[in-house]
Amino acid sequence: MERRFYLNFTFEDWSQWVISHNYPSFIAKQIFEWILKGVNDPFKFTNIPKDLKEKLYIFFDWDLPKIDTRLESQDKSTKYLLKLNDGKLIEMVLMPSLDRVTLCISSQVGCRMNCSFCQTGKMGLLRNLSFGEILSQILIANNELQNRKVTNIVFMGMGEPLDNFDELVKALKVMTSLDGLNLSKHKVTVSTSGLVPEIEALGKEVAVSLAISFHTPFDDERSSMMPINRKYPLEMLKNALLKYPIQTRHGITLEYVMIKDKNDSLKHAKALVKFAHGLKVKVNLIPLNPHPGTAMEPALEENLKAFQNYLETRSISAPVRYSRGQDVSAACGQLAIKRKEELHADPRLLWRQRRSEERV
Ligand code: SAH
Ligand code: SF4
Repeated sequence: MERRFYLNFTFEDWSQWVISHNYPSFIAKQIFEWILKGVNDPFKFTNIPKDLKEKLYIFFDWDLPKIDTRLESQDKSTKYLLKLNDGKLIEMVLMPSLDRVTLCISSQVGCRMNCSFCQTGKMGLLRNLSFGEILSQILIANNELQNRKVTNIVFMGMGEPLDNFDELVKALKVMTSLDGLNLSKHKVTVSTSGLVPEIEALGKEVAVSLAISFHTPFDDERSSMMPINRKYPLEMLKNALLKYPIQTRHGITLEYVMIKDKNDSLKHAKALVKFAHGLKVKVNLIPLNPHPGTAMEPALEENLKAFQNYLETRSISAPVRYSRGQDVSAACGQLAIKRKEELHADPRLLWRQRRSEERV
């Protein structure tokens, strides 16, 4: 018998399972509470009958993905490489600050969107994560934190979340429901390259915060940087954003990776303002994180400032976001395809890695 991964069960699944094994339904709630607390050993579920503990142990696979590599950045963010049960690697980044703990998680192993500036895109799609694998990242992060819990989630790790729609929605429902992790929808952000039908479906299923990887206001340029734009050009994207349920209340974030001599001119800023007309948006300006094998460079500071100033004088908030954890390649998809031997050959990283292991 193949044992099912315990996190791939929703609260409703547990309720049915418990009843079908002749236990009272309230036990499902107890099991689910232990699980969401990060306990992955049924023998530690102190308030359930002993014979049930044994059944749970036998019927389910209780192994969480393993922490393969832990890299601490000087800015206090920590990048994790997690090894899934089939040996594939995904990444997550934990970014604690004074008032919140943000976790950046993955939705797929690799990505098939093939954006020109992105390292994950170069991998292609290896496979989707199951909803339990998506959730497991939060439980692992909570277990890593001492006396704190993850308060904010961003889907900005590996993968295109809306290309794994059904599993994403199941995971989002557990994250945001009262009998789940009970995070505010406002504090869970799905970042997408712009899959229009799925943006509309997400708005209907579970309207969490939305970030769009925007990167240029011109269709021809966007199509060459992001092939998905050929299928869903900017006008279609804008219509989907206008309809998205939270757009009038909290607004939508446009992520704009600033690339030298590519998308960093005032002509771009002007067209961006035109796109934003009628939308409630904030623009995050992110200097490109360069990686080996590409000729692209981050925009110069003076161009970044001029671009920012142009937007802000037109009432569009445009903070510059320097990717956290740059020294450990924490930005999107930049570590997982670095070979592990390379990491071990870098004495600076090895040292940090050792120290963080001593702490545990
Ligand atoms: N696939 C989703 C979410 C993961 S990518 C998406 O594209 O939105 C998360 C963010 O990292 C996106 O905004 C993406 O454009 C950005 N990103 C990708 N490569 C980058 C790079 N080299 N430098 C800076 N940001 C990058
Ligand atoms: Fe995929 Fe996002 Fe990278 Fe594009 S930017 S290749 S959608 S992960």
